[in-house]
Amino acid sequence: MRLFEHMLKGRGNWLLLVFLAGLLVLTLAAKTGQTAKNNSEVKQMKQPELNVLNDAEKAVIIDKGTERAFTGKYHDNYQAGLYLCRQCNAPLYRADDKFKSGCGWPSFDDELPGAVKKIKDADGRRIEIVCSKCGGHLGHVFSGEKMTPKNSRHCVNSISMQFVDAKSNQYGRAIFGGGCFWGVEYYLQQQPGVIMTTVGYSGGKTAYPTYREVCTGKTGHIEVLEVIFDPAVTDFTKLTKYFFKIHNPTQLNRQGPDIGEQYSSVIFYANETQRKAAEKIIADLQKQGIKVVTKVIPAVRFWPAEGYHQNYYRKKGGVPYCHGPVKKK
Ligand SMILES: [Zn+2]
Repeated sequence: MRLFEHMLKGRGNWLLLVFLAGLLVLTLAAKTGQTAKNNSEVKQMKQPELNVLNDAEKAVIIDKGTERAFTGKYHDNYQAGLYLCRQCNAPLYRADDKFKSGCGWPSFDDELPGAVKKIKDADGRRIEIVCSKCGGHLGHVFSGEKMTPKNSRHCVNSISMQFVDAKSNQYGRAIFGGGCFWGVEYYLQQQPGVIMTTVGYSGGKTAYPTYREVCTGKTGHIEVLEVIFDPAVTDFTKLTKYFFKIHNPTQLNRQGPDIGEQYSSVIFYANETQRKAAEKIIADLQKQGIKVVTKVIPAVRFWPAEGYHQNYYRKKGGVPYCHGPVKKK
């Protein structure tokens, strides 16, 4: 109290005010921090909405059973599309990564980024795979079989998945090429409804291309971004319009400082809806006097790029040198 009495006299008043103001700021900051922390915890802990499962689905997805080989819906399906979790609708696998293993279950040599969790099976030998979002049982992953250059086989029960045909309007995937893929990813991954993104290569002649090979310009591949989105939140048209805002579609076979066909402006469309939407957006830009050179071509296989190219700016920090809102006239 002596201290306070002293502070209340003369110059002390001023000191007390500073002291109390500081205390108030600290308390508020701590409270805000606490609220933010609580909110993020709530967000992380929020359970995904789950579909109602029938008994056969429960036996595999919940009780970790296995469907009989060659009996599932998808072991022999090689149509373009996406495989989602049967229980929570999270995208798990792209049809591009499905291969013929002859084992009687759908086999993939890669998964969508972060879609699948690998855990030691109760048998102590195998590696079980479950959906990262809902924990539903998918199957097992095997390595060392050398069936494809990726040397990995996700052996998945058909019943744990639901297939979305690339021709469907519920297909939540788009492929854009707009110069260096680091920058295209940086901007598009921040858009509402975008669930995940992967940088990679498409449109060329070679299988399992590497960055080094693509850089030579001889493979015919273009640096592209694969966007997996939630069709209930956003759509192909919205994402395509944004794609035109973040790169310069009037530059042929280059983008800013990056020169070569691998930096072409291109949209690989999966179906007629996507083709028409892309062509309409381009026609509207042309009407505004913007000489768009963006190619609109049918989607072919997408090859994910090396791990160190993924989320490049998120890992490195900073803002892309090559992309950003561009004036096109
Ligand atoms: Zn799931």
